[in-house]
Amino acid sequence: MNTVSFADLKLAPEILKALTEAGYSTPTPIQAQAIPVVLSGEDLMAGAQTGTGKTAAFALPMLQQLLPHASASTSPAKHPVRALILVPTRELAVQVEESVKMYAKYTSLRSLVVYGGVDIKTQTPHLKTGVEILVATPGRLLDHIEQKTVLLNQVQMLVLDEADRMLDMGFMPALKRILALLPRRRQSLMFSATFSDDIKKLSEDFLIYPSLIEVARSNATSDNIKQKVYLVPSEDKHALLAKLLKGDDAKQVIVFTKTKLTASRLTRQLQREGIEADAIHGDRSQSERQQTLEAFKQGKVSVLIATDVAARGLDIDHLPMVINYEIPHAAEDYVHRIGRTGRAGASGTALSLVSPEEEKYLVEIEKLIKTSIEKEQASVPRAQRGETRPQHEPREPRQAYHKPSLSKPAHDPWFDQPYVPKVTEPAPSTSKPDIAAVKPKAQIPALFRRNS
Ligand code: AMP
Repeated sequence: MNTVSFADLKLAPEILKALTEAGYSTPTPIQAQAIPVVLSGEDLMAGAQTGTGKTAAFALPMLQQLLPHASASTSPAKHPVRALILVPTRELAVQVEESVKMYAKYTSLRSLVVYGGVDIKTQTPHLKTGVEILVATPGRLLDHIEQKTVLLNQVQMLVLDEADRMLDMGFMPALKRILALLPRRRQSLMFSATFSDDIKKLSEDFLIYPSLIEVARSNATSDNIKQKVYLVPSEDKHALLAKLLKGDDAKQVIVFTKTKLTASRLTRQLQREGIEADAIHGDRSQSERQQTLEAFKQGKVSVLIATDVAARGLDIDHLPMVINYEIPHAAEDYVHRIGRTGRAGASGTALSLVSPEEEKYLVEIEKLIKTSIEKEQASVPRAQRGETRPQHEPREPRQAYHKPSLSKPAHDPWFDQPYVPKVTEPAPSTSKPDIAAVKPKAQIPALFRRNS
């Protein structure tokens, strides 16, 4: 049980005031462990993912360390970059800087975020006024370095946030170039959700005798996230999703897809059905992504369709539900995805639509989270399948099909028939999910059966 308070961590009154205003009462486990290490000046390698409170874990002690340099002067020379936070994506950059600004609001420390996808000229004047804390994506920071619009020779603290994702995204060469420009005498902190060999190598290269902290993958297994799998043929996924999204508990949902193409297609289909959905993925411009995210945060859009890269680091509080339209092939992405819900002790639901072809990935996920997820066979009334099937997918032949009345689909006689379970061939692969955990079908002609 963690009983440390923020005041016990010896944070300055101006920082404590901002935390009280933000409604933070107790430090999260990563904060309780990391803050004293960072305040002691040691390097840190921390295993923590989004949702654990990792941003404050590095930002709070960073502000505390920089407080002696805070200056009310308007001279840019009084505000050199002293802390550099490198992050993999634009969205994460924006959110980290928002958090830093919030925690720093009662200090005169300045922060700024720079990321690609927007005109570099709009960022330069802000950089020139001087900032102590710079949050950046690696590519755009290199652009600024090349244009000599930023100087990093006074950086005393470096944070690599979501380092594993930075490596996945191919930022290693950029990181090396940036790190070579920083003063050797500095404090370096690395945060990563996973500890792969590449991450260990990176930490050996850039950290000096780091303290190691790892917090549990609380999001993946925490009791406050209800996880459930619907076993469903891929051609029925869309109809099942539409039904789930119309449920009372689906007021604000992120739906994950594997590809940008599926995200766009699904968004258009849902919009046609009157569901307020919008997509956030790498093909959309930065301003479009920001607008969509804002609309979602304000509740103007109830369904956000996202790919893993676009969603990484999204900070949306009190999100009640996440739906995996397609489950990720990398089991760790599942952990990241469902970490969007059930934050800071709130309860959440994570539903996954898994087709027979995807079951092998489900096995990997269950291995990683050491949990057998509750499963339910879902089948979709044929009338609804027909309504929602993407146009390019062929219809499968069906037995005893009653043509739905287009004007009154609700009165389709199909609904009055008893449910006939579909017999599915067992897959030859050994990598089947825990069949014993699959709930039997109930004999009701519903879109998907409730637990019997
Ligand atoms: P992060 O893991 O940094 O993305 O933080 C996840 C969410 O938890 C963010 O919305 C933070 O504002 C929130 N948060 C972080 N630390 C605390 C805390 N000690 N108490 C309450 N909420 C927190």
